[in-house]
Order: sequence, then C-alpha cells, then structure tokens
Amino acid sequence: RPTIGVLALQGDVREHVAALEAAGAAAVTVRRPAELDAIDGIVIPGGESTTMSRLLDLLDLLVPLRTRLAEGLPAYGSCAGMILLASDVLDTRPDAHHLDALDITVRRNAFGRQVQSFETDIDIADVPGGPMRAVFIRAPWVEATGAGVTVLGRVPDGPAAGRVVAVRQGSVVATSFHPEVTGDLRIHRYFTDIVAAGA
Ligand code: GLN
Repeated sequence: RPTIGVLALQGDVREHVAALEAAGAAAVTVRRPAELDAIDGIVIPGGESTTMSRLLDLLDLLVPLRTRLAEGLPAYGSCAGMILLASDVLDTRPDAHHLDALDITVRRNAFGRQVQSFETDIDIADVPGGPMRAVFIRAPWVEATGAGVTVLGRVPDGPAAGRVVAVRQGSVVATSFHPEVTGDLRIHRYFTDIVAAGA
C-alpha cells in the first residue's frame, strides 16, 4: 500500500490521516523537509491557507515541497489545501505563498456571507457510487482552469450553481469541500489509487 503524507502544520490533519488509513493507504504526518523523501503522495488538509503558507515558510518546507510537486509527487488538497496547490489565488494576502502544482485560479472565501458554510450533494466525475455529501466551510471555488485541468464537480444548484469545486490535473486532485469529515471515503480511495498507480 502506498505511503501518503499529510501536511501537519495546521488544519484537520487527524481526519485526513484516519480517512487515508481507512481507504487503504499508510498515512504519515509531514512537518519536516526530510519527511518528504519517505512519501509517495501528499494530502494538504483544510484549515487556513495563509497560516499554513506562513508555517511552510518558517519550517523551510515551502521550497522542498514545491520542488517535490514539480517533480510529480501526487497531491490532494481539500479547501485550504486546494488554495495552496493552486497557481493563482484571488482574495488572499499579498504575502501568501502557493505551491503552483495545479493550473487553476482559486477565489478564497468565495461563497460569501449568506452561504459561508453549507452542505450539498455533488456528482463527482470519475468517482462512481452516486452523489457525494459535500461540506463547505469558508470554501474557495475555482474561477479558471488551465488546459490540462479536468473539472470533476460543480455546485448543482442554489446561488453558486455551476461553480467548479473539484478538479484534477494529472496526479493532483483538489476539492473545495471536506470529504474527510463525512465518512465517505471515495475521494481518499480515488487519490490512493492515483498514488498507487505511480508508486
Ligand atoms: N477560508 C480558508 C482559507 O482561506 C479555507 C477554509 C477551509 O479550509 N475550511 O484558507
């Protein structure tokens, strides 16, 4: 089984570790640059992207992680993790860093006051078994996608209908929502299978 790291600077690390283990991966936490050498893929959890950005910098992880991603390390980011993986971020702090692993423009805290946090059911392309419960917590959405990016899911209805909230580019996957909090393991299985195929 593949070894998948969970970036453990801030955010819902434990939930991702548990979901990965349940999905059949060996999950380890990553806090130091040397720990990047021992993993076949990485999950960047939900939390607060500018705080994680600052900690990446402080702990000297920013450049090594960006390099590993550029070399093809598979990655999955949920919510703040999507923001960090992106190549371009709107409505963030000017000094926030991104990892440039996914050719998308993301708008941070995009859903606005009325619907800051909400749940809905979303069909995810490539992930069989029917719609998935999607939990959004001050989530970003994807505002533009580069040529190599596949849209996996959109908000089905309501004020944000049609907004892109799940994407894949090669072995990099991101969702605006948090599958790690629902007990639905399909996204973590999907990512574990991607990692296993390359590992
Ligand atoms: N709003 C947060 C950010 O900007 C993301 C929220 C989340 O990960 N649940 O990083």
